[in-house]
This record gives sequence, C-alpha cells and structure tokens, in this order.
Amino acid sequence: MTDRVKTLIQNLERNNFNALYFEDSRSAVEYLKTNLKKGATVTSGGSMTLAESGITALISGGEYNFLNRANMGNSEEEFFEFYKNTLGCDYYFCSANAVTEKGEIVNVDGLGNRISASAFGPKQVFIIMGTNKIVKDTTAAFLRVKTVAAPKNAVRLSCDTPCAKIGKCVSLLKSDNPGITDGCDSPHRICRDYLVMGKQNNTKRITVIIIDEELGY
Ligand code: SF4
Repeated sequence: MTDRVKTLIQNLERNNFNALYFEDSRSAVEYLKTNLKKGATVTSGGSMTLAESGITALISGGEYNFLNRANMGNSEEEFFEFYKNTLGCDYYFCSANAVTEKGEIVNVDGLGNRISASAFGPKQVFIIMGTNKIVKDTTAAFLRVKTVAAPKNAVRLSCDTPCAKIGKCVSLLKSDNPGITDGCDSPHRICRDYLVMGKQNNTKRITVIIIDEELGY
C-alpha cells in the first residue's frame, strides 16, 4: 500500500467512513460475498467501476434481491417508483468520480439518483473506487470531472455534448478553473448536481472500498 493510500484511509476514517483496502478486484468481491446478507435488497448506480471490478456481476447474480435499472419500465410512474424503492434498499453500491486526499468523496450526476441515495436513504452504502480516483483536493476533483469522467461517460452514454466530441468540458476552452455551472447548455448535460461528502455522523453507514487498480472513469 502506498503512503498516499495510507493517508487517504486515515482521513476517510477521521471523517467517519469505513475504509477498506484490497489489492485487487477479486479480493474485494470475495469480501463482499462473505459479508453481504443473502436475500438483502441491493441496487446500484450506473458505474464502469462496478462492472469492471466484478461487483455488478456479484450483486445481480441471484443471491440478492437486485433492483435492476434495466428493468424499471418506460413510464414516468415506473421511473419514480423504481428510484423511490432504491432509497429504501439494504445495500446501495456506486463509484466515486474522485476522492480527495483529505477523505472527501466527490460525485457529479446528471440525474441525481447516485448522489441522493449515497447521501440519504439506503441502510448501507458501498462506494467502490480504484486508486486512479485519488486527487489532491476538491478543485482537482471538479477538474477531473470536466476532463475525464464527464467526457468518457458522455461518449459511453451517447450524450450529444461538446465534451463527447472534444474530450474535455467546453468551459476549459475559456478558463483553466471553470465553475460548476460553466460548460454547455445541452439537454444531455451530464454534470448537473455536485455532491461533496465530508465528515459523516458516526454511524459508519458508508464503506469506501479502495481497490489498488485502475477502475472506471
Ligand atoms: S458542461 Fe457539458 S461539455 Fe462540460 S463536461 Fe458537462 S456535459 Fe460535458
């Protein structure tokens, strides 16, 4: 484990997150297999980290009551019913866009489902991160969103946004340090709502699983 990861773990714990380190995805999946209650209601945000680490396969594999976004239906009622149910689940899984060395977790959503469920609702939240998500501070985290996470996700989700075409936020053509509302006015904009999770109350509701691999965007 590098000194940077050791410091991150100390700071996450100081902020009342559980912080667990795994050398690779396989050992993280094994830990979860052993510790999650079979039959529990589980769901997740959309995430390349979860897919690449094998955690999506684990939680959707039949051992748990997995609320699957792909099966939510097409109507507005089904959409709201699905996301209302996710807030009452036992375990919620998501990734992070960036995690600062001070132990702050930064996520930026287009829909707001991930940041709302991680902040309040599910009994336990697992935030899965590769070591590629560690950044110095929130300024670097927001920049990471505008240079890495948003452009790559926009391509993946076929969003018609400038960043999908030029590989970074259009706001960076005017400033090195754009604000969170700078950028495009596309109806497909995927960086709408920002959440920085700082010091939690002492319930240890949130566990950050740090995997020593490059995972997701
Ligand atoms: S504001 Fe628009 S161009 Fe900039 S990162 Fe967000 S979606 Fe992409």
